[in-house]
Amino acid sequence: MPAQEHVHKYRRIDIGRRRQYWVMQCSLPKCQHYVAMEHKEYAPALVGKIALCNRCNEPFELDKLALTKKFPTCKDCIDSPRQKEIKKASKFFEDLEKMLTGTDNQ
Ligand SMILES: [Zn+2]
Ligand SMILES: [Zn+2]
Repeated sequence: MPAQEHVHKYRRIDIGRRRQYWVMQCSLPKCQHYVAMEHKEYAPALVGKIALCNRCNEPFELDKLALTKKFPTCKDCIDSPRQKEIKKASKFFEDLEKMLTGTDNQ
């Protein structure tokens, strides 16, 4: 299968020498694909394109908001308050378990 057949996973890098030259480049191994950006946080050519989320690895449609990120993520992963809550909750239960196991051992 040719390398281009995958869904690209973009990250923003500056490949300019003397001047800044921002591109969204595919971070997958062996892929040389990149798209030049109009502006550091603006790449209209990529809006509507499908890419892999840098957090959950699921394909999603790039939009202007996602393209302002160095590592674009899907809507579910963009500063999701629910994710934070889940993290907080699981940490709470972890600590609780540690505490309880600790007590059991004594
Ligand atoms: Zn790629
Ligand atoms: Zn995601």
